[in-house]
Amino acid sequence: MPAAVVTGTQWGDEGKGKIVDLLAADADVVVRFHGGNNAGHTLVVDGQKTVLNLVPAGVLHPGRICVMGPGMVIDPEVLVGEIDALRRRGYLGDDRWLRISEQAHLIMPYHRAIDRARERLRGPGNIGTTGRGIGPAYEDKMARTGIRVGDLFDEGGFRDALERNLREKNAYLQALLGEPALSFDDIHERYRGYRERLRPFAADTTAELRAAFAAGRRVLFEGAQGALLDVDHGTYPFVTSSSTLAGAASAGAGVPPRAIGRVVGIAKAYTTRVGSGPFPSELADALGDRLRADGDEYGATTGRPRRCGWFDAVVVRHAIALSGVDGLALTKLDVLTGIDPLRVCVAYELDGKRREFPPGTQGAWERVRPVYEELPGWRENLGAARALTDLPPDARRYVDRLSALVGAPVMLLSIGPQREQTIRLVDIF
Ligand code: GDP
Repeated sequence: MPAAVVTGTQWGDEGKGKIVDLLAADADVVVRFHGGNNAGHTLVVDGQKTVLNLVPAGVLHPGRICVMGPGMVIDPEVLVGEIDALRRRGYLGDDRWLRISEQAHLIMPYHRAIDRARERLRGPGNIGTTGRGIGPAYEDKMARTGIRVGDLFDEGGFRDALERNLREKNAYLQALLGEPALSFDDIHERYRGYRERLRPFAADTTAELRAAFAAGRRVLFEGAQGALLDVDHGTYPFVTSSSTLAGAASAGAGVPPRAIGRVVGIAKAYTTRVGSGPFPSELADALGDRLRADGDEYGATTGRPRRCGWFDAVVVRHAIALSGVDGLALTKLDVLTGIDPLRVCVAYELDGKRREFPPGTQGAWERVRPVYEELPGWRENLGAARALTDLPPDARRYVDRLSALVGAPVMLLSIGPQREQTIRLVDIF
């Protein structure tokens, strides 16, 4: 299989960073194809924690080509900071290991200002955006007023586009959002600096990927967020502003759907979500607090506490169907140690009817009730397990039951943050 996609099957934060880092060892190229620095991966290698927001998680394997594809929105300030931090730790030893699409859109300071001001004005009913300007940058992309990475290298064109956009954004910021105007000179000067910093990496990544496929390179597509945050298929409007499904890898990176051989869905052994929106299996009690503490469920990007709850098979089943998931990487099984009994949401009840898949409208999402099944828990620490047979029988039963409920085999099982705390059942490539 020359290419695989890794995609989140819940509301994001499934532990994709660790899984991509692991699989990247067998890949030649690792590609991000959507989103921006609203995604935050936490990786632990040799006991050292690295948080990546933009650069693909393959970067911790020297020599891998990391591609930031056309479907992304990139905040150059954050990217430059991330490149510097990686360099300080000895990564990214060669400029050719990072390729940034000239077609990816730039997040501008006015995007961040608009994002934050809107979220503040919405008050308690907010969407829970990360305030990083991702949504407003995608709005401009779709309105065809966005500024792209390649535009940085056209001095006159960049100046004109910035002038035009800033006139409009400043009027909006001042008149409607009650914010101060932003300075053209300040932004212009800063982005000139980013132009020089990003010049070595900017590339026609679509052509480079085509060449990589032609040469038989193994390509790993790294999804961000999760299926239920997909702008079309998630819990709209409490979603992200891009498509998060496996299919988006094709459009966002510029490769044909047929080029992608395998789809790996990442699912956490329980459920979390950050920010507002429906969450039928939420535990708003001491058990939820325990999951948050034991699973360290705080946003990698924002530090926000995550809402925690039981594994929701309806959600993961939906994600598997949407993305054509071939198998699951199940993470954080170790966090459930000591909780007995365990519950799993196997279906929803909506207006007196049982359903195996979620509804499509916000109103219906608010009315669904979880249908639970109980399973025995286990007390043993799982962190040292290296094979399925090392797991206590009740932990194996739990994994098998989840797999049966969602209709996909488990390819990989993660029982701790370290690379070696992983049980691999199937080779991905
Ligand atoms: P991502 O954005 O999908 O990568 O998710 P997060 O940023 O929430 O990363 C998951 C967090 O859990 C990171 O701190 C990982 O080091 C950690 N982690 C990943 N897999 C496991 C696991 O199997 N067990 C435990 N205890 N922690 C894990």
